[in-house]
Amino acid sequence: MSASARFDAIKTANSRSPRVFQRALGEDGQPLTTADLFGRNTFSLELMSNKLPKPVFKRVEACISRGESLSKNDADVVAHAVKEWALDNGVTHFTHWFQPMTGSTAEKHDAFLTFSGGQAVERFTGDMLIQSEPDASSFPSGGTRTTFEARGYTAWDPSSPMFIMDNDNGKTLCIPSAFVSYTGEALDKKTPLLRSMQAINKSGNALLKALGMAETHITPTLGCEQEYFLIDRAYWALRSDLAIGGRTVVGAPPPKGQSLDDHYFGSINARVQAFMHEIEQELYKLGVPAKTRHNEVAPCQFELAPVFREANVGVDHNQLIMEILRRVAPRHGFKVLLHEKPFADINGSGKHNNWSLSDTNGDNWLEPGDSPNSNVRFLALLSSILLGVHRYQGVLRAAVASHGNDFRLGANEAPPAIISCFLGALLTRICDALAAGDSLPANPDQAVLELGVNNMPDVAKDNTDRNRTSPLAFTGNKFEFRAVGSTQNPAWPVTVLNTVVAEGMDQVTAWTAEAGGGTAGALKAIGRAVKESAAIRFEGDGYSDAWVEEAARRGLKNLRKTPEALDELRDDAVVKLFASHGVFSPKELEARHAVLTEQYVTAVLIEADTLKLIVDESILHVGIADRAALAGALDRLLELQGKGIDVDTSIEVARFEALSTLVKELGAARAELDTAQAEAGHDAHLASTRVVPALERIRAAVDSLEGVVDDKRWPLPKYREMLFLV
Ligand code: ADP
Ligand code: MG
Repeated sequence: MSASARFDAIKTANSRSPRVFQRALGEDGQPLTTADLFGRNTFSLELMSNKLPKPVFKRVEACISRGESLSKNDADVVAHAVKEWALDNGVTHFTHWFQPMTGSTAEKHDAFLTFSGGQAVERFTGDMLIQSEPDASSFPSGGTRTTFEARGYTAWDPSSPMFIMDNDNGKTLCIPSAFVSYTGEALDKKTPLLRSMQAINKSGNALLKALGMAETHITPTLGCEQEYFLIDRAYWALRSDLAIGGRTVVGAPPPKGQSLDDHYFGSINARVQAFMHEIEQELYKLGVPAKTRHNEVAPCQFELAPVFREANVGVDHNQLIMEILRRVAPRHGFKVLLHEKPFADINGSGKHNNWSLSDTNGDNWLEPGDSPNSNVRFLALLSSILLGVHRYQGVLRAAVASHGNDFRLGANEAPPAIISCFLGALLTRICDALAAGDSLPANPDQAVLELGVNNMPDVAKDNTDRNRTSPLAFTGNKFEFRAVGSTQNPAWPVTVLNTVVAEGMDQVTAWTAEAGGGTAGALKAIGRAVKESAAIRFEGDGYSDAWVEEAARRGLKNLRKTPEALDELRDDAVVKLFASHGVFSPKELEARHAVLTEQYVTAVLIEADTLKLIVDESILHVGIADRAALAGALDRLLELQGKGIDVDTSIEVARFEALSTLVKELGAARAELDTAQAEAGHDAHLASTRVVPALERIRAAVDSLEGVVDDKRWPLPKYREMLFLV
């Protein structure tokens, strides 16, 4: 790679103009309205109600809203209807669309084409809809599948709508699916999520019963705010670190990073705006309700948030958002960076998981209101969350652990590696009063009045002033799990959150029953839960050093790096937790530990190898060449001096010395990386304590060199070039 490629890239990037894309048109030739566009490519409930016989539709609806199972006959009817619809829309292939433990989605396409009596026909049956057998052996399983029994199958998840993925050169029907082994083990992220949603429903209803309230169907809801960076493709093509690992492993900070804080909510660049419009058009077609878009804090950083849905649909929507971002970016000459920390010293990207519970009536359980009854339910859930999160803080930390996220958590921009909950002043006051319990009047109505729980619409108002430093913040009518990383599949953190909350609810239920049930019993139980979990509540600055010390005094866990966080999954209490709620068998949980740990080590080692490549193939040569050139220049000056001419060589000498020192340091750091890698082998803990620091040492040397070496020689696009779009 040569510096001239870099200058060509700068030219290319600076000469682009906003793309004018083809808007979807209606029959009248006019652009479709959002409402008309919305869900065009999904086999929605509305479509099904038109296309399915009424009794079948009713059963499909029950299957979606209450998780009831669907008969083979009904599946055949659905398959036929969806095939007709797909063919009408020019679809040729179908695929079970699933979420293996790789963290992204997977698909294996089959044509509808079959032959009948030598005649080509399009066929799609209930069997094909319900189940498919991808070659599972190449997906990570954490050892749950030995190779001779490598088969796994994907199973249709009717609760998430089927959709048509429209590529430039063809259309495919995608069937959201779970992925399990023949022995029934979950090989994916979806299956455990669905199980955890069942756990919430079960524990939530038991809690309602203890409170003396009517049974309902309870569903966790999820809305993911997705942060991402956009850079010009021409730069990306020259950065092997971005291409391979998604993160720049070298690069000196620009003179103007985010120091002026002028990007957040700033006006959106025209090229980016065109990109956002096209993204939204694609998402609307897929029934993804993209709602807000804005500039984020860092230069070139943006956010997209959809309207929330049931957690499993919310997860699918997030996966689609990531997919569409990746797919549409090149059309605009962009590359989207979804990594948690693509640029050092510049804010990283998160994926805030907004979470709550909703029931058959569409009631949001975390929406405090003006009825004492719903507010007791609210407090019962709130205290269950606090209790679950406090008892299982380590698992929640494990749920957001990855090499990429290690650069965010605990840094000065993202929620810390210490898990805590922010509630706001009003709820804090109520919680404190509940925890102090004894001072409350015995009469529940009186207690409710005294707590101010009979009417709490102010809670939402109280939360307008957010605490952005909290990993798990109550934001008026939902919790926002802010520690989640931008590349993560949210299924895993939401699975953990659901399970932990189900466990908290079980405990609050038991304590309520113990205290005689009803509102009086509930208030006692809630007080007990709030008291036990008091240490998890923190309203202060999560970024401060004082909090690290305070958290240690409170006995909270501070799991700084991924390997130690992941080891929480091996804790006996945690194994029991997941098994007792039917979310992960011990074997399945161990498999997650193995896969996530392996992914961590692999990510670190890939970065190490990429950095070596960059240093060995180019940066060292650049440093050496620059030093040689300086040496030549200095030589000539000294020659002149030898001829008695008075020339000052101090600048050349100083530069030469600086360069020499840096080249030497780079050589030493480079050798140290080899030693570190040899020592670490494939061990995750050693990768984190030996290899990662060795990478940082190399980076420091390279970044200093960048500031000294002749700009004309530098081969890698610089931060100041990549981070400012025209
Ligand atoms: P902000 O966080 O700035 O208040 P929003 O209110 O728009 O922004 O919410 C951010 C995300 O939270 C959106 O995706 C939104 O749909 C989602 N959200 C709102 N209410 C809920 C809820 N009850 N359950 C889950 N997600 C929700
Ligand atoms: Mg938010």
